[in-house]
Amino acid sequence: MSIPVKPFDPQSLRTDFPILDVRVHGDRQLVYLDNAASTQRPRQVIQRIRDLYERQYANVHRGIHWLSEQSTDLYEVARETSARWINARHPQEVVFTSGTTASINLVARSWGDANLGPGDEILLTLLEHHSNIVPWQQLAARTGAKVRFVPIEDDGQLRLTELNALLTERTRVVSVTAASNVLGTHVPVADIISQAHAVGAVVLVDAAQSAPHQVTDVQASGVDFLAFSGHKMLGPSGIGVLYGREELLEEMPPFLGGGSMIRRVTTDGFEPGELPEKFEAGTPPIASAVGLTAAIEYLQQIGLGAIQEYERQLAVHAHDRLSALEGVCILGPEVDKKGAIICFLIDGIHPHDAAQALDQQGIAVRAGHHCAMPLHDRLGFPATLRASFYFYNTLEEVDLLVDAIVATQRVFRRSS
Ligand code: PMP
Repeated sequence: MSIPVKPFDPQSLRTDFPILDVRVHGDRQLVYLDNAASTQRPRQVIQRIRDLYERQYANVHRGIHWLSEQSTDLYEVARETSARWINARHPQEVVFTSGTTASINLVARSWGDANLGPGDEILLTLLEHHSNIVPWQQLAARTGAKVRFVPIEDDGQLRLTELNALLTERTRVVSVTAASNVLGTHVPVADIISQAHAVGAVVLVDAAQSAPHQVTDVQASGVDFLAFSGHKMLGPSGIGVLYGREELLEEMPPFLGGGSMIRRVTTDGFEPGELPEKFEAGTPPIASAVGLTAAIEYLQQIGLGAIQEYERQLAVHAHDRLSALEGVCILGPEVDKKGAIICFLIDGIHPHDAAQALDQQGIAVRAGHHCAMPLHDRLGFPATLRASFYFYNTLEEVDLLVDAIVATQRVFRRSS
């Protein structure tokens, strides 16, 4: 089913997002710059979920009645759409989870427990989100494996010269983000994958911050596992994708046990089902999967090329304007080496106080460690401010952010 989406024009695309018109703190215009945490949803996604609940919803796979078949078809279309979105070979290489965190935990539990032992190494980077650190630390604690980290340069780029030394025959898995959720740093995953494969390591790419913005091609990159979340790309919360190469998924034991993931259960035990149901115990996120289909179709109609080009303009404008402000320091690499995320500090104002002051002016940014404490330890700051953009943001909103920062500085100067 095709969705009537207009040609790329941020002002007209914004009209698809009802929440962008919400007034905050009385009658302030909302400037939503927290897209790295979660994007908003266009009415096409909301409507698709509404249609499902109003006309097509039943539990999937189990029923033989008409509604259940409707629902099952839509759920499997979501799988096919997601598989095409990342260019997977087969839809059964797509496992639906509740999000990136659940996807990475699934791999660490299922593949990790079966394949790692004492002395084995897990290689991460200092750019990782806690979701791509803690499951591996838990795996290491269970198996006696060791977690190592690729360091970063002061500007937040990976120190790739150290990758060679860190990748050894002991490295069993390399798990890297494609883009930092804090600094926006783009990571050269294709190079990392080929170097990791050369020592026989399996690679997981955390695509939570890249899948919404740039083309993901699991066949071209040769990645073994890849994870992303629906809510960061216009989809509903509660749905994520785990891609796994079929041969790997086939060998892996189920992680969660329950309904749907079995072929047969007796009082003595169970036989797991086929892919991908083997990894989808219980009632899956049916409505969220159907919403994800609509989100992917919406993004496809705009085109990731147009989105990337426009986001680059936003990032360049934000960089130019913020770096011209006295007392504002931008962290992270040059603008051409990162996505549309600006991580910054304001002299003399704690990030939480600054975020609160900006919020009072209608600007939604995030302050804190952004679930990346090891990265913040390396940067030397416990907390930072983050403005993260998506294609429905405008150059005028960047200017509103800048005006609000200047106003905040004025207030804090007066009160100090
Ligand atoms: N990895 C990265 C890089 C992220 O930005 C996030 C979300 N902030 C996650 C993992 C976790 O995603 P979720 O909360 O959807 O599981």
